[in-house]
Amino acid sequence: MVALSQNLTSPTIAAIDAALEDRQRPRQQRRLSGSMIGKKCEREIWFQFRWCYEPERHAGRMLRLFETGHLREPRAMRELQNAGIKLSDVDPETGDQWTFTELDGHFVVKIDGRGTGFVERPKTEHIIGIKTLNDKNFKELKKNGISVAKPEHLAQAQSEMHCSGIHRFFYYAVNKDTDELYAGSDVRIRYDETEAIRLMVKAERVLKAIRPPEPISDDRSARACRFCKAKAVCGGEVFAPRSCRTCLHSTPAMGGDAEWQCEKHGAILTVADQEAGCGEHLFIPELVPGKQTDVSPDGSSVTYEMPDGSQWVDGIAQEAA
Ligand code: SF4
Ligand code: SF4
Repeated sequence: MVALSQNLTSPTIAAIDAALEDRQRPRQQRRLSGSMIGKKCEREIWFQFRWCYEPERHAGRMLRLFETGHLREPRAMRELQNAGIKLSDVDPETGDQWTFTELDGHFVVKIDGRGTGFVERPKTEHIIGIKTLNDKNFKELKKNGISVAKPEHLAQAQSEMHCSGIHRFFYYAVNKDTDELYAGSDVRIRYDETEAIRLMVKAERVLKAIRPPEPISDDRSARACRFCKAKAVCGGEVFAPRSCRTCLHSTPAMGGDAEWQCEKHGAILTVADQEAGCGEHLFIPELVPGKQTDVSPDGSSVTYEMPDGSQWVDGIAQEAA
């Protein structure tokens, strides 16, 4: 495997990073989630939900940074408990994180915890959301509040309140450089039903879209696209990976728990099925870096003109060609 950490002159440090990098198991997102739904570009959310790019592999330094965030959570819970909050971070029925779903399982929120005993409203149950921010982001949060500095966190909070039915949210945000805690007037977030429903409608639109939604910008070098992991596939530069999620025969099935169905085979697809795909995979046309020019009469193959002028045939006829 190619080492992701570069220019490490100490072989021991390089070995630490390499061991971390080897252990990572990047996975595709099975469902839409509260942490995705605040993104401005619906097309970006759709590309992620449809597995249109390989899940990202991270260098050792980034993996340590993520772990630092996770390690902060038990400490935050301890601090809240010491302040008198009665909290629960595990659902006793499952022994796992509290989890709530909507849209027949296709939308999920997993909350950090829930509790009562907050000084401002001791009897009111709150969701607890824990975030670690670097100094720059923390300063912006203090200056402008959550809605301006971290709108995606606000969207996540609203979707968590909506799905759980717990209508107050405590935003525990810590500056990881100084350990200062955020104490702005919006640290307790109220449920906003209109906004929460708007987010759920957005999730349903993404879920039911059989083609990628419109781009937020036609200029992929624009600020809005700067950190988008789907940029190459969005701009028609590369093929999306093959899986059932990128096949035009698949759709999210309603009525189950995050099920997907294949119209070609009339089957419900497990996650393993979706990852494997099959020989009759046909790309959703926007996921091919070419222009669709023809479809065979029985619909089993689709022809594209590629940027270099060549023809590329997707489907069974491609193997015969
Ligand atoms: S590159 Fe820009 S337009 Fe395309 S999906 Fe990403 S954010 Fe949206
Ligand atoms: S045709 Fe094959 S790749 Fe396409 S959805 Fe069905 S099982 Fe998946």
